[in-house]
Amino acid sequence: MGWVADKTALITGASRGIGRAIALLLAEEGANIAFTYKSAASSAQETVNAIGSKGVRAFALQADAKDLLSTQAVVDRVSEEFGPIDILVNNAGITRDRLLVRMTERDWDDVIDTNLKSAFNFCKAVSRSMIAKRRGKIVNVASISGVIGNPGQANYAAAKSGMIGLTKTIAKELATRNIQVNAVAPGFVATDMVKQLDLSQMGGFSGLLPMKLVAQPEEIAELVLFFASPASDYITGQVLPGMYD
Ligand code: NAP
Repeated sequence: MGWVADKTALITGASRGIGRAIALLLAEEGANIAFTYKSAASSAQETVNAIGSKGVRAFALQADAKDLLSTQAVVDRVSEEFGPIDILVNNAGITRDRLLVRMTERDWDDVIDTNLKSAFNFCKAVSRSMIAKRRGKIVNVASISGVIGNPGQANYAAAKSGMIGLTKTIAKELATRNIQVNAVAPGFVATDMVKQLDLSQMGGFSGLLPMKLVAQPEEIAELVLFFASPASDYITGQVLPGMYD
């Protein structure tokens, strides 16, 4: 039996990248997986197929994380299919990088709503049943930008910082209900999100990478599995950063 055998896991934004790696690893460890995506339907179907080959159940829901009204519908649908959600991973995220002087209100709102407000909504939507069961795991995928800041990412760093504050606060609120809430804050991870970055230009950041290597999505998934599994039952409100801070 795996670390999360027979659990119900909901992961936001798992058609590609880190979310997909998390979905595959939790599936490998026995969880039934539901995940959302924004528009990449064929990638989402590939992820469903890959999860299915691991012998657990899986389905994908097209649901824009910014569409706050759909959050409860997603949670209800997953609960109907698989039973109450045991593990929530808030992973969906985007960047709209620009220096402050060029950043538009739309850049700000899109990033805050997709990365932060959606996490608040999903946490709230799953918390009621987790409280009733006296059990649950919430893992938020933040970023090192939210810990140390990063020029060009005022919107993204603010959203990820906010996610860290959300993690620490609801960890305290839910601790006595046996619900653990933790976050990972990766540095650079080899996904579509960083493809457009020229890492050789990241002089300031590369000095902070302990191993001088960009992480693979599967390596972030291992951290998420730890926070989603009973191995971390006595750990809550923690943020695991992907670089020195
Ligand atoms: P990615 O490869 O661009 O994948 C993003 C995923 O999120 C996709 O599944 C995408 O769905 C989904 N998504 C985007 N906007 C969405 C929306 N509005 N509603 C629902 N789903 C949405 O990104 P990634 O690098 O794997 O990043 C995953 C998380 O890790 C993000 O929160 C990111 O901020 C964080 N992170 C990444 C890095 C890094 O270096 N890559 C570092 C630190 C933190 P579609 O496929 O349909 O577009």
